[in-house]
Amino acid sequence: MTQKVAIVTGAARGIGLATADVMREMGWRVALVDRDTEELQKVAGERDNVLAVDADVSNPQDVGRMIRETLAWGGRLDALVNNAGVARFGPVEDTTFDTWREVMATNLDGVFLCTQAAIPALKETRGAVLNIASISGLRASTLRVAYGTSKAAVIQLTKQYAAELGEHGIRVNCVAPGPVRTKLAMAVHTQEIIDAYHDAIPLNRYGSERELAEVIAFLCSEKASYVTGQVVAVDGGFESTGVGLP
Ligand code: NAD
Repeated sequence: MTQKVAIVTGAARGIGLATADVMREMGWRVALVDRDTEELQKVAGERDNVLAVDADVSNPQDVGRMIRETLAWGGRLDALVNNAGVARFGPVEDTTFDTWREVMATNLDGVFLCTQAAIPALKETRGAVLNIASISGLRASTLRVAYGTSKAAVIQLTKQYAAELGEHGIRVNCVAPGPVRTKLAMAVHTQEIIDAYHDAIPLNRYGSERELAEVIAFLCSEKASYVTGQVVAVDGGFESTGVGLP
């Protein structure tokens, strides 16, 4: 049987690495893409059926090379997981334009660039794109002017791409994670935010990387062959309640 090939961006740790591991367990070969060279080489060296691609998703030259190196290695591309992301929290009045641009460059430009570059290869396989947004892109709360706006835009980008690429059999979906104790989240979640999430989430806890990865991998697989243009909140029920956050 032909082994399917995926690209997972931001795969050196966190949700991206867990996704790559679940997809490998399902028989995929996975190109791990990250700009953290040291961590990337370390995790790639510990795994079979992976390629390490040192790339910044906000850099068009890097993105072009990411696709070329993946195709040279795997011969095909069946799924792209746009997971790389950064979080910067702060009041709007303290958010500098540099911070705003930093967040948009990775979270939004990166998704646009990687998906656009992957289209020719995905047309060949009638493949799938899976974007990682956030519950912060579904609802507004304080401190998230750049992060939340970038993730809301990713949700719209998902729908735009799904509308346009459906005629080629390419599915484009989006997962909106609730809080997961990764390096990204723990750098911006104060104790007040942690407590508020525990209270507001019906399951009363943070999710795990693995709980996110299972849904992401499912949506990339043939089992989700009639699902496109969707946003799936994997958030312990947070989005369903409307309970607010600080
Ligand atoms: P993480 O910080 O553990 O991992 C993110 C990875 O992306 C890192 O390895 C980092 O080096 C890489 N990366 C960042 N910018 C990059 C760039 N420009 N080019 C290439 N690689 C880059 O974070 P995580 O929590 O696993 O986040 C994964 C995704 O999930 C992000 O899009 C994040 O916004 C989203 N998310 C996370 C949470 C959470 O609570 N952890 C909640 C909602 C959404």
